[in-house]
Amino acid sequence: MPRAAQDRPNIILINCDDLGYGDVGCYGSPVNKTPHLDRMAAEGLRFTDFYMASPVCSPSRGAMMTGCYPSRIGFDDFEGRWVLFPGQPVGLNSQEKTVASLLKEQGYATMIIGKWHCGDQPEFLPTRHGFDHYYGIPFSNDMGRQAGRRNNYPPLPLLRDEEVIEEQPDQAGLTERYVEKAVGFLRDHRDEPFFLYLAHMYVHLPIYVQPRFERESVNGRYGAAVACVDWAAGVLFRELKRLGIDENTLVVFTSDNGSRVRDEGGSNAPLRGTKGTTFDGGQRLPCIMRWPGQIAAGRECPELVSSIDLLPTFAKLAGTEAPTDRIIDGKDVRALLFDPAAKSPRDSFFYFFRSQIDAVRNDRWKLFVRRHDQDVKELYDLRADIGETTNVYDQRPEVVAELMPLIEACRTDLGDTGTGTAGRNRRPLGRVENGKPLTEFDPEHPYYAAEYDLGEAG
Ligand code: MG
Repeated sequence: MPRAAQDRPNIILINCDDLGYGDVGCYGSPVNKTPHLDRMAAEGLRFTDFYMASPVCSPSRGAMMTGCYPSRIGFDDFEGRWVLFPGQPVGLNSQEKTVASLLKEQGYATMIIGKWHCGDQPEFLPTRHGFDHYYGIPFSNDMGRQAGRRNNYPPLPLLRDEEVIEEQPDQAGLTERYVEKAVGFLRDHRDEPFFLYLAHMYVHLPIYVQPRFERESVNGRYGAAVACVDWAAGVLFRELKRLGIDENTLVVFTSDNGSRVRDEGGSNAPLRGTKGTTFDGGQRLPCIMRWPGQIAAGRECPELVSSIDLLPTFAKLAGTEAPTDRIIDGKDVRALLFDPAAKSPRDSFFYFFRSQIDAVRNDRWKLFVRRHDQDVKELYDLRADIGETTNVYDQRPEVVAELMPLIEACRTDLGDTGTGTAGRNRRPLGRVENGKPLTEFDPEHPYYAAEYDLGEAG
């Protein structure tokens, strides 16, 4: 029996790696071809002011999975590093509830395909955090063995659930394999609610692509990787229609952090800054949502929204709630999906550089108090000055006076190494006794069908 369209939708969350604000056609890219994503926006809702909770991978992903700022869950510092590396004994705490664990409790079939990056020890893997199944690389695609690189990691593992099924997989063909798994998952679960988290490898360096996409690209391998991400979305949309579940499915498309913007062809335009910075270019990202029949076509939403809002929003759509026994930073933003006149329940958003509070956005204003280990006094009007070019700190003391208490309250709550403030409401990072990489280099092993020889790293 067909399910009512508005009843507990399937949810597909597509997350890219290092794809910038200006990398998608409907966000203004003049070079990358993204016809499927552009159509997705034309048929759905395009957010202009959507923020990831960190400008780098692990904290961004942990935050989106738990609906909390990275500092809340100890994801601001991994033994002195900003992201997780192979074999570290730390990761997402077993006590945390993820989007997947909430939806699984509601009877959803759950799967993650692609990059996890919330810990590679068994205790931290997706299968211990609410996902029925996993298929992918548990961290970044530059954390394997690369020809000519001095600091090599153990061989890059491809996991099925908790088992390494391949080492050093051919990256050029990997996205196609991800899509095949995704399509299989949709087919297997067409008759029940499901949650699919497709976390692409692209466009993180090194970039290996299929010849077809490279041939058609006018932006080199980077444009080819974007085209492949777009192709993947096109395949999924077609499959949803073929299975007759298009109107039962909310699809969300986003990226974990901004582009590096060096010479490989990425863009955060018109935003300032890059991956790893707390300028908007590091954290403000494309976000498109499509749910035919429920979300009106062709809308644009300028309201302030963050990836940490997805957990409470998805929970409500699935007929449950975000956990109430702990602090969750995310807000339920369902109203924004269905009501063009709705205002965001989120009035502020905090920007963190590692464990340090750099800035707060409130309404149109962004106040910087610190950046790159330096105290600063900068105020930007993001509505009039999207590129953060003109500091109006001295001209608008009343705005500064209004925003400063927000920063102070956040310091007390989450801590701030910039001022040496310990946070009151932090929860611990997960930790195991002895971390061990999932793979070990064996010089006798014939790893490479395709050697990673580009010498690039993200
Ligand atoms: Mg990333």
